[in-house]
Amino acid sequence: MPEIKTYSGSCHCGAVRFRLKTETITTGVRCNCSICVRKGAVMSSKYFEPHEVEEISGTENLTTYQCSDKVMDHVFCRTCGIYPFHEWKSTYRVNLGCIDDLDVLALEIGLIDGRSF
Ligand SMILES: [Zn+2]
Repeated sequence: MPEIKTYSGSCHCGAVRFRLKTETITTGVRCNCSICVRKGAVMSSKYFEPHEVEEISGTENLTTYQCSDKVMDHVFCRTCGIYPFHEWKSTYRVNLGCIDDLDVLALEIGLIDGRSF
């Protein structure tokens, strides 16, 4: 069984906080689609299931942007503009830069060719 760790995360101003319960994060992804390439964030390699994402607080501070496809909720903090995760069918891909004590640029970072989807 892989070790399960609890990670804490937040947007930049701290209005939005959450915890992740998951196996140790060793990888991340970047994506070249029109929205991700503008954000430049390193995202989690997988979508987290609802039971892995705990205690999201400050959700009233989040606002949602939907691209033309309308399948993905890109949420961001109204105060600091940071985008902690996006939501797709009640699962979450997390902006790893929002995770406390995670050296995000030291992860093995892959590329998703979202532009071709
Ligand atoms: Zn914020």
